[in-house]
Amino acid sequence: MNLNGQVALVTGSGRGIGKAIAMALAKDGADLAISDIDLDSASQTADEIKGLGRDAIAIKADVSNSAGVEEMFKSIIDKFGKIDILINNAGITRDGLLIRMKDEDWNLVLKINLDGAFYCSRAAGKLMMKQRSGRIVNIASIVGVMGNAGQVNYSASKAGLIGLTKSSARELASRGVTVNAIAPGFIDTAMTQALNDKVKEKLMEQIPMGRLGTADDIANSIRFLVAPEASYITGQVIHVNGGMLMS
Ligand code: NAP
Repeated sequence: MNLNGQVALVTGSGRGIGKAIAMALAKDGADLAISDIDLDSASQTADEIKGLGRDAIAIKADVSNSAGVEEMFKSIIDKFGKIDILINNAGITRDGLLIRMKDEDWNLVLKINLDGAFYCSRAAGKLMMKQRSGRIVNIASIVGVMGNAGQVNYSASKAGLIGLTKSSARELASRGVTVNAIAPGFIDTAMTQALNDKVKEKLMEQIPMGRLGTADDIANSIRFLVAPEASYITGQVIHVNGGMLMS
């Protein structure tokens, strides 16, 4: 994939899947805005990208803060003058059963996973419509499609992201901007390392490929969706799950 001259923003890219995506896009030639709620990890990813010979800035931003997101886009435009690719990756879990879920756990997950993607898509959409090109990819989840006991907040946020993807794809298509979602299955990151062994064992039984996915499995699907060759693909949910869900 050739992304030379393009500028990409990946939210939550200090570690995990976001970091793998940022590194992959840099290897394909893009310059990167690395944003994370944790500036230390964002700076470390940005330094690694500079080591690959690409330009990068690290930005501390909480995607659930609308004004903070506007500031983040201002810093990116000040530095690079444009933005070609937005990956809405920042996300959290606060698991619990429906009947015991606290308001704050519901609200926080919706605020970061869904409101955050909305604030970033709105800001990027304005710029991309003007430049008549752009790529937005939202990191949803398999559980946003099939549900998961103990994750009403998380699955609702990810199902919401799929709706956001399809509606914004329809609004932006005529300006050459594509909007798609990746729905990862269970990927080996800090988020899934927190699961207990019994849950992991049960999960494994449901994955025909017999392994968790890697952050690079997700990064590779993004490389394809943001490439110039994918210009006729929009409003789609691409499942990357080792066969766990076939739709
Ligand atoms: P992760 O290892 O926990 O990384 C998430 C990153 O987002 C961290 O760097 C985190 O910063 C950052 N972050 C958290 N809250 C933020 C906020 N308010 N604003 C900006 N950044 C914030 O998770 P991951 O597994 O890589 O997940 C990445 C995305 O993939 C998420 O959207 C997740 O829902 C989705 N996903 C993951 C899986 C999986 O199995 N791992 C499956 C399906 C979908 P800190 O380090 O400071 O917390």
